[in-house]
Parts: sequence; structure tokens; C-alpha cells
Amino acid sequence: MKSLPMVPLLLLSFSFSTFAAPVVPDSKDDDMNFVKKYLNDFYKSPDNGTIAPPRNDSASLYNDNDLVTEKLKQMQSFFGLKVTGKADAETLAVMRKPRCGVPDLGRFVRTNGNPKWERNEITYRIVNYTPDMHPSDVDTAIHKAFKVWSNVSPMTFKRLYHKEADIEISFYLRDHGDNSPFDGPDGILAHAFGPGKGIGGDAHFDDDEFFTKQGSRGHNLFLVAAHELGHSLGLSHSTDPGALMYPNYAYTDPHLFRLPQDDINGIQAIYGKTDDQIQPTGPTTPQACDPRTTFDAIATFRGEMMFFKDRHFWRKHSQEEVELLFISLFWPDLPSSIEAGYENYEKDQVLLFKGNKYWTLNENGILPGYPRIIYQLGFPKNVKKIDAAFNDPESGKTYFFVGGKYWRYDEIRQSMEKGYPKSINKDFPGVRPRIDAALKHEGYIYFFQGTKVIQFDPNSNQVVDSTQKSNRWLNC
Ligand code: ZN
Ligand code: CA
Ligand code: ZN
Repeated sequence: MKSLPMVPLLLLSFSFSTFAAPVVPDSKDDDMNFVKKYLNDFYKSPDNGTIAPPRNDSASLYNDNDLVTEKLKQMQSFFGLKVTGKADAETLAVMRKPRCGVPDLGRFVRTNGNPKWERNEITYRIVNYTPDMHPSDVDTAIHKAFKVWSNVSPMTFKRLYHKEADIEISFYLRDHGDNSPFDGPDGILAHAFGPGKGIGGDAHFDDDEFFTKQGSRGHNLFLVAAHELGHSLGLSHSTDPGALMYPNYAYTDPHLFRLPQDDINGIQAIYGKTDDQIQPTGPTTPQACDPRTTFDAIATFRGEMMFFKDRHFWRKHSQEEVELLFISLFWPDLPSSIEAGYENYEKDQVLLFKGNKYWTLNENGILPGYPRIIYQLGFPKNVKKIDAAFNDPESGKTYFFVGGKYWRYDEIRQSMEKGYPKSINKDFPGVRPRIDAALKHEGYIYFFQGTKVIQFDPNSNQVVDSTQKSNRWLNC
């Protein structure tokens, strides 16, 4: 098997060409100032508890290197990064993602203790509008964001028009009188105050952002508002990367949005369950070492491995390191629940499949002109989806698995080979149909089926091991 170059951080560079980076410092000094400001903003010490003014001179607060190291460790541990205490490339990449302005550690203004509303009927008012959207679309997004929380708790929300409400919603630029100025485009998107009188419960949106009704460009107002209203109700940030209350913004199609279980648990811990007989449930974030872990698809790219699962993928870029990432954070236009994928070594591309569509990606993101339809690859019209695929770098052929059959595609001639489909059972004895994901690795073919992995030797044409668990590939 030809050796593949190891480019450990390449995938991260993906995300930042396709996803706006708020600050791109051009020197080490700028990096350090940026890190200090970030730690000042989001990892304040409890002993400097008052909200600090804009900190262009943030260096003064952090002249103590030990304190920077300590705060970096807290931040890395919050985001599930490798705890190094150093501003390494991966830490910087996470810090540059668009996020909520509410700190991860240290309390925001006036919310000491665990404030909650003492009654279930809460009022809100939309104080002003963003020029980015039609006012009625803003109304709809905010209404829908409240509904996210009223659906899973006893809380109800009534809109007021002319009287001050519990939760006042406004769009502001830069300094807007609450000692927490916005920062221009990207970076901080919005912030909100925990339950309380006056400014308590209020949610502010940075109008230097481009807020949208729909689509993956700009920032979706409904998603940002649903997160902020979580704070308005007393929730703080979650370390669960799949949670709505995770500090960083991640795009999900608003039509397909379902409040994750972590957030349901959070709001119900404060206000109790709904009156419904059956309590609502939400998606849980996959855990690598859960013995039930299964994969939707697996693809490699330049020596890294990507294990797709629902809205996420695990990225394995060295033997020890596995991280869980949102698909939408890297490729906002890709759907969740990818069904098959493979690396085209010749062209240095990755192909991902869902239903009868497929996308081709390179290090800069999705290529223009995609998705395309799988029939363009030569599949007959009765194929509605691909279960699994792998490319054999030695022969340049790609194997596609569909139910009990498989097809073989010649990447060099760019055509489906004649004589297919063939039977999986016949040509891969011991391999049952309905394969979740497949991979050729170090001379063996690995078929993933549920929590099990079948290791197949193509030379002796037999299964050599069928006792492995899927999650062993995530170092479990
Ligand atoms: Zn937040
Ligand atoms: Ca901003
Ligand atoms: Zn504000």
C-alpha cells in the first residue's frame, strides 16, 4: 500500500477557509494578545468578579504567565482539547470560532448563585430589529427560539409590545451600555443575562453580524437566539459539544433542529418537567467509548481518518488523538447522517454520499457543482442509497456496497466496471449484507456492521477476525 503523507492539522485548515475566522493574527505577539483577551473574556477568575471593560490592554491583567497557563488549561479542559497549557494550533483554532459572549467560567453580570425565574409565565419584547432580515422573519425566529424551551419545560412566554418585559431582546453595535461591548463582525455573536430584574434575562445580538432566516451563510438568528434564551432562563454553557448550550456556534438546518438531551436535562433541572404524559427527548451526543458506538460512514484523507455519525464525525489524526466535531462546522452545506465515503487518492479528494446524492471535497471544502446524483457514476435508478464504500489505492478501484450487492468503479477510467453488481456473499465469503462502513487499511478490508468489525484478507479471500468492536478504532 502506498504510504500517505501525514498532515496532522490539515483538516483544521479546512474549517477556516470555509467558516469565517473572527481574528487572524499575523504574528506570535498578536496570537498571545488574542489568547489573553479570550481568556480574559471567557475564563475570568472569580476574584476579579466585576465585568472588565474592553481590554485592549489585556496584557496587564495577564502578566503572570502561570495564570495564562492555568486559564489555558481550564479552557482546553472545557472544550475537551488536549490539556497542554499552551496556545497550540488546535487551541487557537477553537478560540477563533464564532461564539457566545457569555463566559464559560466566572459569572456574568449580576448572576451570582443559580438564578431562576420564580414564576412560569415570562414575558418578552423585541425592542428593535436588525436590517439583515425582514422584521416578520425576526419575529418568527424569536418566537421559534422561545418555543424550543417551552416545549420541554413548564415555562410559557408571552410577547409584549409596548411595556417593558422580563426578557428584552435587542440588536446592538459595539459598546451598548452594559460593560460588555460587542466586538464587530464575528467573534462574539450575542450574549444574554441570567434571570433577574432590570437587565436580567435580556438578550443582546451583535448587529455587526449578518443574521439570517435560513441557510448556512451568516449566522442563523433562530439558532443564536435559542442559545441565548437558554442563558435568559438560567442555563450556563455546556461542555457537551453537541449541546445547544455549547459556547461555539454550530450551524444545523433550523427545520431539522431538535433540542439535544443535554439541554433538556439542563432546563428540567431548573424548572422541572412538562405537564405532558410523555416527556420530550432529544438527540444525545455520541460518545466514542460507548460500547454501542456504530458508524454511518468512514473516509480517510491524507492519513487522517473520519468516522461519521449523525451530525458529527470523529477525526483521528494520530494514533492517540481522536476528537468529535460537527460536520456543519467544517462543511456547512453537507447534511448530517452521511451514508458512505471514501478517499480518492489519485485526485486527493474525499467523496461523501447520502441518498442518491454525493459531494466531492478537497482541502478547501466542497467543490463547486455538488451535490451531484449517483446515477452520473453509473448506478442504475433502482439504487436509492449507498451503504458503504472504500477505495483500493493499489488498483485505483472503488467498491460500493448496496444491500447484498456491490459495484466496482474504475477511478482512472472514471467509469463503472462491467459485470456488476455482484454478490457480497459470494466474493467476500463470511461478510453479511448491509454494511455500515468500509475501509481498506494496511492491506486488509474492514467491514463495519453495527458494533462489530469484520477484518477481511483480500489475498486469502477470507475473514481473519470478526471479534473486534467498532469503537476500538476510536482508541477505546
Ligand atoms: Zn452562551
Ligand atoms: Ca461580533
Ligand atoms: Zn449587551
